[in-house]
Amino acid sequence: MRVEEIEQMDKRFVLPTYGRQHISIIEGNNARLKDSEGKEYIDFTSGIGVVSIGHGNERLSNALCNQVRHMIHISNLYLIAPQAQCAQKIVENSGYDMQCFFANSGAEANEGAIKIARKYGEVDGEAKRYKIITLEHSFHGRTITALKATGQEAMHNYFGPFPDGFVYANSMDEIESLIDDHTVAVMIELVQGEGGVQPLEREHVQKLAAVLKERNVLLIVDEVQTGIYRTGEFLASQLYDIEPDIITLAKGLGGGVPIGVVMTSKKEVLQAGDHGSTFGGNYLSTTAANTVLDVLNEYKESGILDEMMLYFESQVTACQREFPELFSESVGFGMMRGLRMKSADALTQMINRSREEGLLILKAGKNTLRFLPPLTITKEEIDEGFVRLKRAIATL
Ligand code: PLP
Repeated sequence: MRVEEIEQMDKRFVLPTYGRQHISIIEGNNARLKDSEGKEYIDFTSGIGVVSIGHGNERLSNALCNQVRHMIHISNLYLIAPQAQCAQKIVENSGYDMQCFFANSGAEANEGAIKIARKYGEVDGEAKRYKIITLEHSFHGRTITALKATGQEAMHNYFGPFPDGFVYANSMDEIESLIDDHTVAVMIELVQGEGGVQPLEREHVQKLAAVLKERNVLLIVDEVQTGIYRTGEFLASQLYDIEPDIITLAKGLGGGVPIGVVMTSKKEVLQAGDHGSTFGGNYLSTTAANTVLDVLNEYKESGILDEMMLYFESQVTACQREFPELFSESVGFGMMRGLRMKSADALTQMINRSREEGLLILKAGKNTLRFLPPLTITKEEIDEGFVRLKRAIATL
């Protein structure tokens, strides 16, 4: 289909919730993409942190084709071997004594986390505890509750009334002062993704984790974007050396097949009938996740993941040094990186010019050029991406 035809149909039949760019990507090989007109791109977006083992990955497509021939879905009324295996891999990779619930997206995983915390708050102790503290500039998803958990006032303009019990802290320091008898949990991203690739300070996080343990307030870490090796370790929680009570995952886990997970050490809280999902953890999504985890575990163990992450970091930082008039700071970890731009207006221009030069790249917050490449990106693909980025910069 020609891009004009797709655009016409899209305009007529699809609700206009996205400001789409006018290209249609139809094929990919690791971090190289092709659109419907035959133009090639380097992918520094991985479908917003999703296509963790690259486009067109042969192991993933073989595993999926093989599974699809036998069974895609049967429901959670029956045992599902790849679901149990996937839970085992996630728990063992994490090193935490936890159990998993399978959902279909990040927002849904966060809904599960909030339900676990709220039920814990109802049955633990005498006073019902329900308040959840989140951070300003956070992003936790688009369902009504995940949206309310999101600390961005502008996103609460419509859609009310929202569920009660969410409190926003301006900073990590402010969290402790907001805890009261009704507080059951604090929910944070260790690196705020949508908020602008903003990592939290390690000491602040460790101090907060200790305070919460002491006060029996649960720590929920939203690892929807940071999880599955995005920041270098399997979980960013391991990088920060903390032990959360609840962790959520999604994006990179399925390599493009929708999946979400909430995992918790509070294994006794949810009982049969408390939570559920028709599609969650079905044969298709957990087969995908098992393959993604196998590929990335091998990649990490071989040392190549760390090597490529260091190389990627060196290229992002070099770019900031080369263009100090454009970029004020290089931020992030692993393959979740950003360059803060001095002019927010130049950011949209930069993304458009990059696309014209054959590079897909993202925006985060108001002024951050965001890099989220596939974790399997090669040195050649990284180099080619930066050549194109510099060509785009030259046209500004
Ligand atoms: N949490 C974080 C940290 C995210 O970055 C996102 C998506 O960007 C979400 C939750 C929502 O995930 P989903 O779009 O899969 O519902």
